[in-house]
Amino acid sequence: MSTPMERAVVLRSLSCTPLVCTRFFSRSSHNLLTRLSPLPKRHRSITNLHTRSLLRHHLRAISTSSTRPSIQLRKHFSSLSPRAIATPPTQPSPEVVGADDDVAKKLGFEKVSEEFIEECKSRAVLYKHKKTGAEIMSVSNNDENKVFGIVFRTPPKDSTGIPHILEHSVLCGSRKYPLKEPFVELLKGSLHTFLNAFTYPDRTCYPVASTNSKDFYNLVDVYLDAVFFPKCVEDFQTFQQEGWHYELNNPAEDITYKGVVFNEMKGVYSQPDNIMGRITQQALFPDNTYGVDSGGDPQVIPKLSYEEFKEFHRNYYHPSNSRIWFYGDDDPTERLRILSEYLDMFDASSAPRESVIKPQKLFSKPVRIVEKYPAAEGGNLEKKHMVCLNWLLDDKPLDLETELALDFLDHLMLGTPASPLRKTLLESGLGDAIVGGGVDGDLLQPQFSLGLKGVSKGDIQKVEELIMNSLKKLAEEGFDSDAVEASMNTIEFALRENNTGSFPRGLALMLRSVGKWIYDRDPFEPLKYQKPLMDLKARIAKEGSKAVFAPLIEKFILNNSHLVTVEMQPDPEKASRDEAAEREALNKVKASMTEEDLAELARATHELRLKQETPDPPEALKTVPSLSLNDIPRKPISVPTEVGDLNGVKILQHDLFTNDVLYAEVVFNMSSLKQELLPLVPLFCQSLLEMGTKDMDFVQLNQLIGRKTGGISVYPLTSSVRGKEDPCSHIIVRGKAMSGCTEDLFNLVNRILQDVQFTDQKRFKQFVSQSKARLEARIRGSGHGIAAARMDAKLNVAGWVGEQMGGASYLEFLKDLGKKVDEDWDGVSSSLEEIRRTLISRNGCLINLTADGKNLTNSAKFVSKFLDLLPSTSPVESATWNARLPLTNEAIIIPTQVNYVGKAANIYDTGYELNGSAYVISKYISNTWLWDRVRVSGGAYGGFCDFDTHSGVFSFLSYRDPNLLKTLDVYDATGDFLRDLEMDNDTLTKAIIGTIGDVDSYQLPDAKGYSSLLRYLVGITEEERQKRREEILSTSLTNFKEFADAIDAVKNKGVVVAVASPEDVEAANKERSDFLEVKNVLD
Ligand SMILES: [Zn+2]
Repeated sequence: MSTPMERAVVLRSLSCTPLVCTRFFSRSSHNLLTRLSPLPKRHRSITNLHTRSLLRHHLRAISTSSTRPSIQLRKHFSSLSPRAIATPPTQPSPEVVGADDDVAKKLGFEKVSEEFIEECKSRAVLYKHKKTGAEIMSVSNNDENKVFGIVFRTPPKDSTGIPHILEHSVLCGSRKYPLKEPFVELLKGSLHTFLNAFTYPDRTCYPVASTNSKDFYNLVDVYLDAVFFPKCVEDFQTFQQEGWHYELNNPAEDITYKGVVFNEMKGVYSQPDNIMGRITQQALFPDNTYGVDSGGDPQVIPKLSYEEFKEFHRNYYHPSNSRIWFYGDDDPTERLRILSEYLDMFDASSAPRESVIKPQKLFSKPVRIVEKYPAAEGGNLEKKHMVCLNWLLDDKPLDLETELALDFLDHLMLGTPASPLRKTLLESGLGDAIVGGGVDGDLLQPQFSLGLKGVSKGDIQKVEELIMNSLKKLAEEGFDSDAVEASMNTIEFALRENNTGSFPRGLALMLRSVGKWIYDRDPFEPLKYQKPLMDLKARIAKEGSKAVFAPLIEKFILNNSHLVTVEMQPDPEKASRDEAAEREALNKVKASMTEEDLAELARATHELRLKQETPDPPEALKTVPSLSLNDIPRKPISVPTEVGDLNGVKILQHDLFTNDVLYAEVVFNMSSLKQELLPLVPLFCQSLLEMGTKDMDFVQLNQLIGRKTGGISVYPLTSSVRGKEDPCSHIIVRGKAMSGCTEDLFNLVNRILQDVQFTDQKRFKQFVSQSKARLEARIRGSGHGIAAARMDAKLNVAGWVGEQMGGASYLEFLKDLGKKVDEDWDGVSSSLEEIRRTLISRNGCLINLTADGKNLTNSAKFVSKFLDLLPSTSPVESATWNARLPLTNEAIIIPTQVNYVGKAANIYDTGYELNGSAYVISKYISNTWLWDRVRVSGGAYGGFCDFDTHSGVFSFLSYRDPNLLKTLDVYDATGDFLRDLEMDNDTLTKAIIGTIGDVDSYQLPDAKGYSSLLRYLVGITEEERQKRREEILSTSLTNFKEFADAIDAVKNKGVVVAVASPEDVEAANKERSDFLEVKNVLD
């Protein structure tokens, strides 16, 4: 939500740090398409969809009438989400061609069918590899962001996590690329625009993307070799490292479990939302593969044997069991040539028959499940229950028309804060936030889930009744025609805009197609949404919405007995009980071992660590293909920017092709706001969109936004500015509309800013509870972000501002605010007015517009009118925010089995002056030193660093980490690592190229315009960009060595914040007396 820029940048870079795998729980997979607010990235986006899934929950509760809401919408439009369809950003020319049929035949492929797909202006050809039966979709168009993906059907039989561990392991070296982790080499040294792997409940996907053809084919080759010929099936140690193993440093100590997936899943199993998702899936599908956890249950993972692991690979990672996707503007013949090299080495197998997913039969009566989740010890358990109703909609897959209608219905019922089902649930006051994702069509059979969290035990039944009664009421009464129109416009807008954020369009398209193809259905059909959507629209117009939707609600929900009600109860002892059970199991293991066994285990532990810490030999590293510096453009990607002036207000204009959409940002200066009002700003922003005006309630306002625009959002943004004490701090109103609706867009923005009434006490109270619930979930699921914000708040003013609006301090503020709303609503309401009076003014306003030249010119008169209507209060004196949190080391304790550990300092204080090489160096530290020590040998899911070049704060962070003090020791040794570093030219070149890949990350036009605005706000000029680029390109080993002294500031003066379990904090404080001040923010 309203993350200030500095934090947003930090958090983004964290959430995008190489955590490699992305597990898909069935109910979080929509997040795939979630990606927006394209900030300038300093780190490559290895999208971590765990974080994404949090993002989704987080976004679900906020306004849909915004640009972000389109995220939310994507979520709702699950499997059938037409928004995944790409319309290439360039002017379409249908002259794209497929591979020559004769050539295809010679290479061993037979053409099954071919279509030109109007929706994505692409020629798509489905081939079958004759020898193995592998199927290939070869999609050709003008999109330079090329995508490749190979997908295997991998249904697990138990919860040992084989598919997930295999997903990690195959990327750890292969026949042609015999090094420890080719994946990491690609992260370091390629220009990829996407590189990751996903495990679903029934399939495993390996996608890559790049705009550079040579780079693209390099990536494809490494991935193909990895999946078909991985080292992990011969190398037991890879299995141990990624999956699980016993660790024993010396025979006198206790044995522990280690393994990257093991700890990753411990983190997953510590989060209530995730626990609920898993339990629901397993209860809905007790009889097929979805009844087990493909990710792995930490209690079951140690039952997995290496033999089973190898056999799973042999059976399922076979061409006959694969589906392969190519997309973009490259040569379609070259695709087949590369594939034939690999596929020809195999014969057909029986895997496709064995991997078929069997449908779940429907229950004859509903089921109820009650489960515990780990809650904070000593906390208030009163309003901590969760309840969710889940239906399996049918005993077979649905046809696409029905799915589309259901997705539309889902948006109508739940898509925006004004949607009736969502509104009723939240206004009931029975819970704090919605759980369950609505309609979910990612698995073989679709589901519908809905419930609340933050519920009192006594209210659980009321929630269930409310959901059932509201659904009945909707079936009886139908929907408001304005609501139908708003949903239809929102969907059509999104289709036309086709904004997949930083997610490649070709990948969004692939996941959509594979979603049906994987079940042996037509891969073309999901790409063609135009006709079914028009048919649906015509039906609604003719028969009315009630006739279309009421039968769906009745058949699939009200009259469907396959209902699973899941109730989750808080249990303050669960975390320690799980911990104790694990300890006991491990003690038993140790007791059963002889002295020789123990000595052998200690030796094996040592040997594994030694192997993990030994760098790859240079000849192995050379096998991974890389570009040369000559392949890299010398100039930064330029964004056309014209800075003008209108009625005394600065206007930035970016003339870019946007397919007739106008993107606008209206920016207000926040620096004159009183310090004590800062934490109220995020809720001020939400109120603007969700409180209603003098003559429209918020439902009408939201419908109007839906009918006239592609969304409006409002959020604060704060960043340090290099060389200045004061941060830059703003509120941004972001909106988009078809150019014909420019006037409506600016009228609406004006009404939101000036007419909204801060009078609805009850709604405001809901906003407070929702924000609190969201933040609590973030502390548990993204503790690294909370730790980063906290350290930043100790080190600079911008960080402090950010933490006030989104960190642990904000959570404390929200707790008090809840009471204040009850006791002194007038006071709160007038504070909101005071924020408006201070901020909304022509003075200090700035407008940023992105569209093509003609539409920019046309918008001038509307912008001018908008500015005339703004009050022109004289600028208030800049307030002084001279606040920071005390520089103490802290631990925020949470019920968890894995920690988030951070340490940071300002390295500009040491006299270090920014040089572009710092980007190369910090990326290198993350991908080598921290990856090897914190993740590979430490067993954490992630370890990384972040350098905020605006403030000078250099932070180290870990993610789902079994250690605490040990990780800090690794951070402290970074300076020595740099001093002792030796590096050949190839390695250096790769590091430089990888960094350029980050700097030049692929952006859609709206993102380009927005990035340019952010650079303008923090004072980064084109000259500086050119200078940094040259510094990056000329980075030398000497730069690395010199950086060591700067980074020692973190070791010597750094501040520590850990988000960790009470047990680990206690142990740390015992070892280093009272090292960490303990803080408990969850209640
Ligand atoms: Zn994973």
